[in-house]
Amino acid sequence: MLTYLDHHASTPCDPAVVAAMAPWWAQNPANPSSRLHRPSLEAAAAVDIARARVADGLAMASDAVLFTSGATEANNLALRGVAEAALERGETRRRLVTLATEHRAVLEPLAWLESHGFPLTVLPVGADGMVDPDRLAAALGPDTLLLSVMAANNEIGVLQPLDTIGALCRERGVIFHCDAAQAVGHVPLAMEELGIDLLSLSGHKLYGPKGVGALLRRPGVPLAPQQLGGGQEGGLRGGTLPVPLIVGLGAAVAAALADRQERAERLGALRDRLWRELEALGGVLRNGHPVHGLPHNLNVTIEGLDGTRLHRQLRRSLAVSSGSACSQGSPSHVLAALGRDRRAAGASIRFGLGRGTTAEHIDAAIAAVAAAVAELRGPV
Ligand SMILES: *Cc1c(COP(=O)(O)O)cnc(C)c1O
Repeated sequence: MLTYLDHHASTPCDPAVVAAMAPWWAQNPANPSSRLHRPSLEAAAAVDIARARVADGLAMASDAVLFTSGATEANNLALRGVAEAALERGETRRRLVTLATEHRAVLEPLAWLESHGFPLTVLPVGADGMVDPDRLAAALGPDTLLLSVMAANNEIGVLQPLDTIGALCRERGVIFHCDAAQAVGHVPLAMEELGIDLLSLSGHKLYGPKGVGALLRRPGVPLAPQQLGGGQEGGLRGGTLPVPLIVGLGAAVAAALADRQERAERLGALRDRLWRELEALGGVLRNGHPVHGLPHNLNVTIEGLDGTRLHRQLRRSLAVSSGSACSQGSPSHVLAALGRDRRAAGASIRFGLGRGTTAEHIDAAIAAVAAAVAELRGPV
């Protein structure tokens, strides 16, 4: 039996979400933008309900929501859309600021913008993964257009101080974008209260379907569309709305809000036990701040082990991720930012617990890691 503990990579779609989506594949095929017949009006109404549910999850009004294909697209729309809108209105602010530990779906568009006339500052983080607010404040100058800081890190679970960051941005007239793909449905997030102007989320990170997400925009934040077409989403994102996926996203956000606290407490207790037992093996280091983090995340480095051999052992019984979740061979830029060297980053394990995780799964994970460590360390 394989134990799935890779919920930061993707979560299973909740059966209730699958059921909510079901009628919208074939029973009602209508395009919600047609508006001339009853099936279309019904589809539009279903989209409206989903829009309100997603908005509600972030304590926003429905008109803040722009549906996208996921968080990658939402990030691209936010970052490139803000930059293009600034060019169009002759804005003199050009500088973009971010953290070294951001997701590639933020770093790559920002690097592209840097090569197209927008100077970029990439700030380091401390050994615990947290940004230093004073350092951040010093980086936000009168030339700064936008700051992008994620809510929760996808590798180490670190939660940045969004309220402090949002207040700094407001004070200085800087647009604040937040990639919240790992946070929505997992930690409370009141977007407006936190001073966030643009927020990205993804369906498949919160027990919804893959291929759908949203960018939430505080009304009035200047944004240029990055996909032109039929004028959907107020002209900011062209393309026929994927009604089943949008209905699924709405249902997933509502369900995640309903059990969020209970889930966080239960998974936090399981995660704490996992950490205590792994720590007892000796030579196991924790990556990321031990308190300011997602309750369902644990990232550890096992000292002195070869990462390739470690993960070859683990994958017989566990679905977890190495420090470098994506590209084999290139070490995690997040663990590197924390000061872990290449070898240590390779010998790291990211555990992502989820709604279906039980005490037995945690027992299995502890046993698997203990066995791998015993075998690879050899007799003492
Ligand atoms: C998964 C993830 C993304 C990408 O989301 P998709 O919907 O798969 O495009 C972006 N940012 C973070 C922090 C993520 O965890």
